[in-house]
Amino acid sequence: MKIWTLFSGSSGNALLVEQGSCRILVDAGVGVLILKRALAALGVSYDQIDALFLTHDHSDHVKGVPAIARRSSFPIYGKREVLRAVADAGEIPHARLRPLSGPVELGSFEVNFFDTPHDATASCGYRLRAGGRSFSVMTDLGHVPEPVFEAVRGSDMILIESNYDRELLRNGSYPFFLKRRIEGDFGHLSNDDCAETVCRLFECGTRHFLLGHLSRENNRPERAIQCTCDALTRLGVSAGEATVDVAPRDCASRGFVL
Ligand SMILES: [Zn+2]
Ligand SMILES: [Zn+2]
Repeated sequence: MKIWTLFSGSSGNALLVEQGSCRILVDAGVGVLILKRALAALGVSYDQIDALFLTHDHSDHVKGVPAIARRSSFPIYGKREVLRAVADAGEIPHARLRPLSGPVELGSFEVNFFDTPHDATASCGYRLRAGGRSFSVMTDLGHVPEPVFEAVRGSDMILIESNYDRELLRNGSYPFFLKRRIEGDFGHLSNDDCAETVCRLFECGTRHFLLGHLSRENNRPERAIQCTCDALTRLGVSAGEATVDVAPRDCASRGFVL
C-alpha cells in the first residue's frame, strides 16, 4: 500500500492511497484544478481514481467535490448526511453518491468507517486495509472516544490530527469563541492530545504516525513533531522504533509504503 497526503490543514485536505492499480482519495478540500495538478505530479489522473471517501462536510474537506464530480465518474462515499449536504451545495447526480453502511470493498481494499466527534453535520474516519496492512485516517476530532481508538487500534500507519499548540492558541489572535470551539470536545486535537494518543497507539502496535491538519496560526510543524516525539521518548521508545512525520500543508508528502 502506498500513501501520499496531497494537502493537509485548515486550508484544504486530500490524500491518496494506492494498492496495485486501485486508487482511493480521502477528502477533496481544495479546488478541482489544484487537486488535478497535485495528482498529475504523481502521474495520476481523475480517471485512474476508483473512489472518493469524505470525512465530513467542512469546506476544507469537501470544497472541490462538486467540480470534481463533474470532471470524473468515480463514486463518492460518505455518511448519508454529509453526502446530502455536499450534493445540495453543488448539484451532484445521486447515482454518484454512496452512503456508508458498512465495509466497502474496492479492488484489493477493504474500507471501514468509524464515527468521530466533531462539529460538522456528521463526521467519520476511515481504516483502509489491503495486502495484509492497514492505514487509518483520524482527523478533525475534538477528543478520542474509545470506539474511535478501537477502530484504529493496531493500524500499521495512522494519520492523526495534531492541530494546535495550546500556548500558541491561547496567546494567539483568534477570537475567544473560536479558541473555545477549537479546544472543545468537538473541535480539534492539540499537540498534547495527539502525543498522548500516539503513545497509546504505539503500545497497541502502530509504528508509523503522520501528524496532520496542523493549524497555520496556532501551530508549527517542529512543535508538533517535538511534542509527540518527546512523549514517545518518555514512554521509552527509542529512535528507529517508530516514525513520526508531518503532513505538509500545501504540497504532497513523500510516498509512504506499507
Ligand atoms: Zn478540517
Ligand atoms: Zn472539520
